[in-house]
Amino acid sequence: MLKRYEEFLKEVDKELNRYFKEQQQYIKCHIGCNECCKIGEYPFSRLEAEYLMQGFQSLPKNIRDIIRYNIKELKIQKDKFLKSSEPNKKRFLYQCPFLINDLCVLYKRRGLTCRIFGLAYLSDGKIILPECVNSGLNYSQVFDKSSGMVSLQNPIKNKLTIDRWLDSPLAEKYALEAGEIRSLINWF
Ligand code: SF4
Repeated sequence: MLKRYEEFLKEVDKELNRYFKEQQQYIKCHIGCNECCKIGEYPFSRLEAEYLMQGFQSLPKNIRDIIRYNIKELKIQKDKFLKSSEPNKKRFLYQCPFLINDLCVLYKRRGLTCRIFGLAYLSDGKIILPECVNSGLNYSQVFDKSSGMVSLQNPIKNKLTIDRWLDSPLAEKYALEAGEIRSLINWF
């Protein structure tokens, strides 16, 4: 299954690279920028989590130890958050435990959500902007923060969400069984 998933990812990356190229005038992504990995929920399917953890096994021991420590700390923080937060504020947002020294240590094995980070797309007639627009990064020149208005003429028409990719003809072509989707921290 993981081999088929790798083939699937090649096609996903091809499509996403095309989108990044089409939208390049709005994109400020560069090596070392990790805004997307610093605060979020990072939804991962079971299949993606397995693929990520297969890569984890071949990381050097010191890096594996840092990740284990990050995960342990995050779980403590998450428990505290869930105990203290209002019932309507249950979204635990966190820095990804795989971000070390400002780099993703499993970049080639990152999830679909990570691959989509940075692009704006249409969903049910509404333009969904990446979070980093609020930091003056991607699409900031077509976004008015005070009114929330977006003046983007050519958004990507495909809904770029993890569930749409995992329930697509492409996923069917590779007979993927992605399983449940959870926030990354909830796979540990
Ligand atoms: S897996 Fe890598 S790319 Fe994805 S959120 Fe974590 S650090 Fe960022």
